[in-house]
Amino acid sequence: MEKILIIEDEERILMGLEDNLRIEGYLVSSATDGLKGFTMAKEQSYDLIILDIMLPKMNGFEVCKQLRQTGITTPILILTAKSQEVDKVLGLEIGADDYVTKPFSPRELIARVNALIRRTKQTQQAIELSNFGDVEIDFKKYEAKKRGRTISLTALEFTLLNFLIKHEGQVVSRDSILDNVWGNSVYVYPRTVDTHIANLRKKIEDDPEKPKFILGVRSIGYKFKADQT
Ligand code: CA
Repeated sequence: MEKILIIEDEERILMGLEDNLRIEGYLVSSATDGLKGFTMAKEQSYDLIILDIMLPKMNGFEVCKQLRQTGITTPILILTAKSQEVDKVLGLEIGADDYVTKPFSPRELIARVNALIRRTKQTQQAIELSNFGDVEIDFKKYEAKKRGRTISLTALEFTLLNFLIKHEGQVVSRDSILDNVWGNSVYVYPRTVDTHIANLRKKIEDDPEKPKFILGVRSIGYKFKADQT
């Protein structure tokens, strides 16, 4: 059973959401202020977070941004009340996955929720093959080619690239990369991630100084982008 966390302070909306999602078969938890919601999202694992923007104690933008900085990759569906907020959700890289404007119909919301959860499940499955630009990777055989010529990647570089591709389009923090690629048992400096990313860029990017696939995201981390449109 998939677990959903709703962070919403308007009781009427919260209760409506809870009812509809339970009928749909989801296990629902809720928080009525930003700080409580942030803590719950950090301490427990959910399959999706539904997040309002205007919240007491900590607003939705902050909750979303800080969750991403902590390395939490749970999909986040934002509820916005104003069109100005939509601009902000889309304009800022706060790391949300989708948004719905209030007032919304239960059917519309359920459809978005189902779609997001389905999409996440697909990307969580192990990636065996990947093609982007003129690069082809076979993760099962540990083979990589660029323009048909073999490029040699280390085992760690394969794992790192696989992790980035799995989170395509999402910002992943250095900490989250360290935890997932190096594992908790090893102590490495976050800067180590940058060094390995730099090496990986030299091998797969046309111009490592102007990367098109592995993008740096300000002070947070990295984002993989396969689609060059
Ligand atoms: Ca609100």
